[in-house]
Amino acid sequence: RAKGLGGARHQVFDPAMRDRVTTRLQLETDLRWAIVRQEFFIQYQPIVALESGRICGFEALVRWQHPRRGLVSPDRFIPIAEETGSILPLGRWILDTSIAQLHAWQQQFSQDPPLTLNVNLSGKQLFETDLILELDRILARYPIVPGTLKLEITETVLMENAASVETLLEQFRARQIQVCIDDFGTGYSSLSYLRRFPIDTLKIDRSFVASMGIDRENSEIVRAIVMLSHNLNIDVTAEGVESEEQLVQLWALQCEYAQGYFFSKPLDADRATEFIASGPQW
Ligand code: C2E
Ligand code: MG
Ligand code: MG
Ligand code: MG
Repeated sequence: RAKGLGGARHQVFDPAMRDRVTTRLQLETDLRWAIVRQEFFIQYQPIVALESGRICGFEALVRWQHPRRGLVSPDRFIPIAEETGSILPLGRWILDTSIAQLHAWQQQFSQDPPLTLNVNLSGKQLFETDLILELDRILARYPIVPGTLKLEITETVLMENAASVETLLEQFRARQIQVCIDDFGTGYSSLSYLRRFPIDTLKIDRSFVASMGIDRENSEIVRAIVMLSHNLNIDVTAEGVESEEQLVQLWALQCEYAQGYFFSKPLDADRATEFIASGPQW
């Protein structure tokens, strides 16, 4: 981190490190212009209902097509955008663009239950903007079916802001906006918040799903999370499903939803439209 570099700690400022710092500063600057230059786009990864094999909706995942560096991963630029504040306009753009897309899909495909959309929110977005006003504005412009927007928050973000989050979650609930806990099992260790807050879905982190069947302990963790959420009346989505074997196990555990390369990688909007039109996955 750039902060540590100027400190009292004795560090060798080697060329590789200088390159990293330069790149990072360059990305910070480039991020500021990337929205107006229309370098961002959104891919949509299908989420499948395991019982029916039908697509129930998508997770929106942002992509940055950098003019010189090519595709930059969100794991790389989202943290920078959070630190510099660029996440605020970017987050608004993601909500606006993906909800417009959901609205278009719901017009085109009148399936029952209607298609849903998951959007990732960063902590900054939750507490440093007038998120609710923004959402109201977007939902007025794109009147999607109530209950079909799901916001993904990590447990760490939730717990670091436990005091202020309560009001916000109530405001979501009043608008029938659902709340998902993303990467469940990797963050905060206390589970008491599951009773305290209105949570609709847990997304089991893909690190647990990845080694199901290979590693008995991880299979047991997945089983425990599914049972826990069923007891609390919360839905479960398994992330990162890559094999049929994982799918069969999740099916046996009565996990509701699954997402992963086994079904589909994240897709551009028109490919995602084709995916909906292609019908049940089995
Ligand atoms: P996430 O929300 O947990 O998203 C799931 C990540 O797992 C995505 O990576 C997705 O492409 C990847 N994935 C899905 N299925 C599989 C699979 O079967 N195997 C493997 N190995 N990976 C799979 P992606 O798109 O690179 O996003 C990484 C992270 O960046 C996301 O993790 C999320 O935390 C963040 N992110 C992405 N888009 C947004 C956004 O619009 N807003 C915010 N705030 N964060 C975002
Ligand atoms: Mg997510
Ligand atoms: Mg996740
Ligand atoms: Mg993640």
